[in-house]
Amino acid sequence: MPELPEVEARRTAIEKAFKASRLTGFDLYKNGIVKHADSRVQKSISGETLRNVDRRGKYLILEFTGRLLFTLHFGLFGDMAIAPPEEQLPSVCARFVFSNRKCLFLLKWASLWFGRGVEELEKLGPDPLATPETFTLDYLSDALAKKKTNMKQFLMDQSVIAGIGAVYADEILFKSAILPTKPAKDLSSGDASRLYTTIIKTLKTAVEKTVASGSEDRPFLSLERRKTCPVCGKGIINTRLAGRRTLYCPSCQH
Ligand SMILES: [Zn+2]
Repeated sequence: MPELPEVEARRTAIEKAFKASRLTGFDLYKNGIVKHADSRVQKSISGETLRNVDRRGKYLILEFTGRLLFTLHFGLFGDMAIAPPEEQLPSVCARFVFSNRKCLFLLKWASLWFGRGVEELEKLGPDPLATPETFTLDYLSDALAKKKTNMKQFLMDQSVIAGIGAVYADEILFKSAILPTKPAKDLSSGDASRLYTTIIKTLKTAVEKTVASGSEDRPFLSLERRKTCPVCGKGIINTRLAGRRTLYCPSCQH
């Protein structure tokens, strides 16, 4: 599943390819992906220019002139491609056609709102990179104190922090030396402060590496595709927590 770093890399790619380009068409091949269609938006799709691509958590918001907006969410398997209109791609759900003879293809399952996905976006907590002014250490410490859930679930809760999923939750907890099973409210102020710095640093570095490599393979992750811990050499635990695969080192994380 694409998480904050991959969605941010996709945002950068869309901006680079299409900013200031005019939308000349929109084709929908799979009706089910449209979650909300504002009729005013549908009437005026063509001819508007892409002004900005914004991101909140795992959502992208394409902002055009004429107050035309689209909100995208890639879900578990959704992907995208930037290619000429004649390109034959598998599993195309929709495509935006631009004046520069390139298209933004939405592939596999993805959700699309014609307009702002207001309800979905309003439910999101602060985004550590997109809205750093609201993601403060005080905010994180307060949120930790209020939650009885374990740390894995805490980090994946989009209403607490927007953008982190199962994979980056594991990475952040490993780098903060915190067990995924630990109740959020049991973290000390030292833990909270270390966690705060690690969240920002891990996500920033992952965005830089993902954008630079143009790949979403995440070879830089500490525990992924490993059997033993890169720090202590002991066996990594591979289990399920909060319904998702969870990797951790029982001797480095407390
Ligand atoms: Zn270890």
